[in-house]
Amino acid sequence: MAGILILLGPPGAGKGTQAQRAAEARGWVHLSTGDLLREEVARGTELGQAAAAYMERGELVPDDLMVSMVAARLEGLEEDQILLLDGFPRTLAQAQALQERAPGGSIRLALYFTAPDSVLVDRLLQRGRADDTREVIERRLQVYREETRPLADWYRSRGILREIQADRSIESIQEEVLATIDSEFSKRP
Ligand code: ADP
Repeated sequence: MAGILILLGPPGAGKGTQAQRAAEARGWVHLSTGDLLREEVARGTELGQAAAAYMERGELVPDDLMVSMVAARLEGLEEDQILLLDGFPRTLAQAQALQERAPGGSIRLALYFTAPDSVLVDRLLQRGRADDTREVIERRLQVYREETRPLADWYRSRGILREIQADRSIESIQEEVLATIDSEFSKRP
């Protein structure tokens, strides 16, 4: 059966870096909704044009657009594939949509990355992406706290949340991420 691993956490926590490395190390599939959206924006597609204004302001792109974007990829998911979902779900509605569309029992873990806000802001300012200005970062963190952080409780109550302290070196986080996933997958087929 396909397996879905959710990477949950604030902007700047390093989810993308960790997902990319884990996918490379293990042959898993990395799906970053932020990267997909930036591609759509660069290509000037209808979706990209609709999403750009939200992204520039640090707001979330509307749920219906996000759900259809991800649903298309879930349909293409092959047996035995492991998908690292990076940046989705970000709202309760997205989490519910994922629950409905994912093959039964395939959502195995939600890795919840945490770090102090000061660390997040510093990292994002260093990264310097177009939406990494101080004002937009503040808004993204606020939106995160209001819309996305409640998902931690949602997945905790389902027994699949594992917290990862992300204020550490990339290597030591990677070790913990892989060990956490491996131990989950050795428990049940
Ligand atoms: P971050 O570094 O803030 O985690 P991402 O690259 O994951 O950034 O996402 C960049 C932007 O793309 C977000 O600020 C948001 O506007 C949009 N976005 C990405 N994923 C989603 C989602 N699941 N729902 C709504 N908007 C999203």
